[in-house]
Amino acid sequence: MTTPAGTPAETSVATSADTFTALYGHAPDGTWAAPGRVNLIGEHTDYNQGFVLPIALPQAVRIQARRRDDDLLRLHSAQGDGVVVELRVAELAPGTVSGWAGYPAAVIWALRDAGHPVGGADVHLDSEVPVGAGLSSSAALECAVALAYNDLYGLGLSAPELALLAQRAENRFVGVPCGIMDQMASMCCRSGAALHLDARDLTIRQVPVDLAGAGLALLVLDTRVKHELADGTYAGLRADCERAAALLGLPALRDLDPAGLPAALGQLPGELRPLVRHVVTENQRVEAAVARLDAGELAALGPILTAGHASLRDDFRVSCPETDLAVEAAVAAGAYGARMTGGGFGGSVIALVDADAADTVAAAVTAAFRTAGYATPRTLTAVPAAGAHRIGQP
Ligand code: ADP
Ligand code: MG
Repeated sequence: MTTPAGTPAETSVATSADTFTALYGHAPDGTWAAPGRVNLIGEHTDYNQGFVLPIALPQAVRIQARRRDDDLLRLHSAQGDGVVVELRVAELAPGTVSGWAGYPAAVIWALRDAGHPVGGADVHLDSEVPVGAGLSSSAALECAVALAYNDLYGLGLSAPELALLAQRAENRFVGVPCGIMDQMASMCCRSGAALHLDARDLTIRQVPVDLAGAGLALLVLDTRVKHELADGTYAGLRADCERAAALLGLPALRDLDPAGLPAALGQLPGELRPLVRHVVTENQRVEAAVARLDAGELAALGPILTAGHASLRDDFRVSCPETDLAVEAAVAAGAYGARMTGGGFGGSVIALVDADAADTVAAAVTAAFRTAGYATPRTLTAVPAAGAHRIGQP
């Protein structure tokens, strides 16, 4: 039922190098990988300058790239329509590139806009990260391109600097007002650890997560649904959070002391109250989760995850019937806890389970989906994996 996490990178590298050479008539300069992520806890907190706790997935975007002497950018995706997209980097500007090529183009635009005089490249990408499943295939793609360009053009930028550029690329060029979590997770996560990130100052701490050692597994259940209201609603929620902070006279909702929450809610219009309650309690759940991990009490994360889902469902109101059912069915089948991960309105649910119960829980969710008439969910097993890195010469 469950798919073993990850694919041996070296096998795919050889395949991609052959594809690259067939496409472009010469070998790539190198191969870079950047992973997707699941967020353990801390949803809709990053743009409120709060805390998040993602892990990188073994599933990654891998790109093969070769620097060019001119400003031609050639892009090909194994998940695309077979067309090599050709662009001129000097002409890149927000609004000029539509479709998937906008994501890699955005990163090169962001680099140039920040004053890095980068030129063209030939790029081939291949990805194991499910697209549109709330596992951040977009940030993985951006980060892989950012890291490749950093090396190809000798920019010397740090991982957080590249993450910020990738976020700016998605915000300004692609037009998605995402926070910094996804790009920081893809760039900075380490194998065997969750990334405790303070989204205000980008302070990070690698928190060890030894699921196997605790006899546990983290299931990822991709519901395969993405409800249409996702994009505009996300921007609206973000704006509402900023409005609430302004009404409270705070720089961001992160600055609201939990002890002051009841009084603060009384000062806000009714529609903003549940949003604020979610953000404040969610930041507390991140800190509680980190404490449990530090104490080696991994199973105790379960109730924190489930409480996080209830808050997303009832207060932030970004869950949907499919994610609610996946959480409910997973917990009923014995999961320690479960929650929707990612921005919402579909995407994936994570469930913390005993390793030997993983198949049973996945089967229970699949059966519940069948009964409800929903699509069969795709199941992965998440193991905290490495952030973006160069994976060797072809
Ligand atoms: P998520 O990040 O949750 O997977 P998004 O809607 O933010 O979903 O990003 C998905 C988009 O990223 C795709 O529609 C596509 O444009 C781009 N993308 C991601 N992976 C690939 C890939 N392997 N090849 C081409 N485009 C990709
Ligand atoms: Mg995305």
